[in-house]
Amino acid sequence: MRAIDPAGAEKTIESRLSALQANMDGLFAQVPFASHSMAPDGTFLSISEVELNWLGCTREELIGKKRFTDFLTEASRRAFAQATRTGAQGIDNLELELMDRSGALRAVSANVSRLSPTPAGLRLVLFDMSMQKRIRERDRIAAIAFESSAGICITDPRGRILQVNQGFRELTGYAADEVKGRDLSFLAVAGKDPLAERAAAVLSKGGHWRGEIVGRYKDGTAASLWMEMTAIADHGEAPIHLVVMFFDITSNMASRAELVRLALYDTLTDLPNRRFLQEQLHHVLSIDARTGAHGALLFIDLDNFKSINDTCGHDVGDQLLVETARRLAHAVRESDTVARLGGDEFVVLLEALPAGEAVAAAEARVVAEKVLMALALPYQLINQEFRCTASIGIKMFTGAESMPDLLQHADLAMYQAKKGGRNSLRFFDPSMQTALLFHVAMERDIDFAVKCNELQIFFQPQVVRTGAIVGAEVLLRWHHAERGFVPPADFIPLAEETDLILTIGYWVLEAACLQLKAWQDDPCAAHLTLSVNASARQFLQTDFVERVTQIVQRHQIDPAMLKLEITESVLLNLGDARAKMASLRALGVGFSIDDFGTGYSSLSRLTELPLDQLKIDQAFVHKIAADAPDLNIIQAIVGLAHSLGLEVIAEGVETEEQKTFLEEHGCAIFQGFLFSPAVTIDAFNGLLRGGARALPGQRKSPSMLGLDHGPLHEEVVGVRGFEPPASTSRT
Ligand code: C2E
Ligand code: MG
Ligand code: MG
Repeated sequence: MRAIDPAGAEKTIESRLSALQANMDGLFAQVPFASHSMAPDGTFLSISEVELNWLGCTREELIGKKRFTDFLTEASRRAFAQATRTGAQGIDNLELELMDRSGALRAVSANVSRLSPTPAGLRLVLFDMSMQKRIRERDRIAAIAFESSAGICITDPRGRILQVNQGFRELTGYAADEVKGRDLSFLAVAGKDPLAERAAAVLSKGGHWRGEIVGRYKDGTAASLWMEMTAIADHGEAPIHLVVMFFDITSNMASRAELVRLALYDTLTDLPNRRFLQEQLHHVLSIDARTGAHGALLFIDLDNFKSINDTCGHDVGDQLLVETARRLAHAVRESDTVARLGGDEFVVLLEALPAGEAVAAAEARVVAEKVLMALALPYQLINQEFRCTASIGIKMFTGAESMPDLLQHADLAMYQAKKGGRNSLRFFDPSMQTALLFHVAMERDIDFAVKCNELQIFFQPQVVRTGAIVGAEVLLRWHHAERGFVPPADFIPLAEETDLILTIGYWVLEAACLQLKAWQDDPCAAHLTLSVNASARQFLQTDFVERVTQIVQRHQIDPAMLKLEITESVLLNLGDARAKMASLRALGVGFSIDDFGTGYSSLSRLTELPLDQLKIDQAFVHKIAADAPDLNIIQAIVGLAHSLGLEVIAEGVETEEQKTFLEEHGCAIFQGFLFSPAVTIDAFNGLLRGGARALPGQRKSPSMLGLDHGPLHEEVVGVRGFEPPASTSRT
């Protein structure tokens, strides 16, 4: 019997074991899953080729150096530690996530067994689960999508419903059992959409269809549905399913309609807005251009909307506009368009008026009169009665006109209606356009004149009974490069419509003060006062007092020599006029009320104001000897002025007779062609020094004096009965 060598036996066993291990490793290297064994400290003892590939490492980098857990995500590391801690002999299907050296993840399922003898390492066999995981994920997404709020149903190859989702049930109100086996036709409003045929077509050809349909729910409600059908084929074979998905877009349609409404209709009155009107007008013009039919555009503007809106608040204003819109819509035919342009401006577009221009215009007039009457009726708002008339401008058209012109012409006619007294209508006529163009050109020219020193001041003497010059009125003259002499009456009212009058007004004031300053040291002229016309617009400026004060102080003149002429219109809107006059009066500046008798200022107003002088309007003066009642007016005016302690001056005195009459009735100062027209400063200084005296009683006509058109001259003209001046400056 052979004796056993224990050491040799152990060696043999060990070598067999390692051969077995090597065999096993070799075996595992062949199989399509990964495997490795690891020492009790977690380091790799052996590893299969597959796993080396998965990890992107070489065997040398791993064996005895790296641990398996180094390649696990944090969550997997925890799961692995927990699973192996229990000491169980084997763990199946432990789901882990491997992370290769580049950080890419791979889902694996691990079967863990223990190597013996203990304390022994572990052997892991890893199966790649990426594909399964992806499939599971896709199924999960599909399931979520299927249960989305969209309605989804799946049909068989014949288009019969197999399955519906929750969204379908909620939207349509049908339970799954009620629709299973049916074709899609019940989903559409009968006769509105061939849904079943559509489904059949998609199924037979494969592919896709999408579009809007009018659907019907179980309770009978119709709805706009956006539907998409997709055929699902099995491995490229004939379609086996149809997936139908739909959304309820009824509210989108409603909001789309709302957007259209907002874009084309006025939100307050629900009337068509400017854009709608323009589109409609464009359409009508193109028809009329072909047919020669007549149309009319009525431009309507409320007369006193602004004051109602300002005084009673915007709510009342809004109610008034809504009521206006209602009345307008009621006053015209249904085929006519009533639009609101904005604010209190409305337009009525009358189409297809009777043939013949005159007849069409007569018809338009009838409608416009009806509108005027409807709008003039009292408005009952917030338990109060309001009255708000309208002005209408009418532009007739036949399709040959441009749209902007039409609106502009109708607007212009409306403006004329307003100017000519409210609650009335005007037809556009081309002369309005000419006047407008002139107006625009003139405005531009005035601006130019101010900037290019084309303005000049002239001086018209003011004399006392004896003929002595006691002052002058400053009157503006404009040397227009092409038009020649432009009288102030032609441009001052225009300038008054814009802020140009302010520029002009202060320019004149500066020039007048400059002159007063020049006279201040001249013994012949130091006693002269200068009257400067102040426009109402200028006077109403909040900084009027400040500006005048600054100018007076800058030129260091005696304010008592300056007189501002204001018209009665200023006093009509008294506002802070009294305070302004008082401030300037305190400075020493005087006030004269110009053109007196032509306005409507009340006597009580006159007594309240710090006036110095009252200027009888030339209209009364010219009637002297012709009209007895007006003579009484002159007497009354003079009497009134004296009772208020005011100085009286008469303007426009042209004859001896007028002067004598005025003198006899207590008027002390005169201004007019009888003495001199307005002349240049040089001519005026000549007058002052008694040059070229006029013969007593000889009246100088404007033409003799060079006042008529033609270049302005600087000729020295005589002042009748010139005598040494008497001071009229205030004390
Ligand atoms: P107004 O202030 O009433 O000026 C008197 C107008 O009567 C002046 O006309 C003057 O030339 C004219 N006139 C003077 N004597 C006679 C006469 O005997 N017979 C006749 N028929 N007319 C006479 P003008 O210079 O054409 O000025 C017209 C108006 O223009 C002025 O009326 C005044 O309202 C305005 N104006 C003139 N200059 C200015 C100015 O600097 N600023 C402002 N705001 N308005 C001015
Ligand atoms: Mg005046
Ligand atoms: Mg006047």
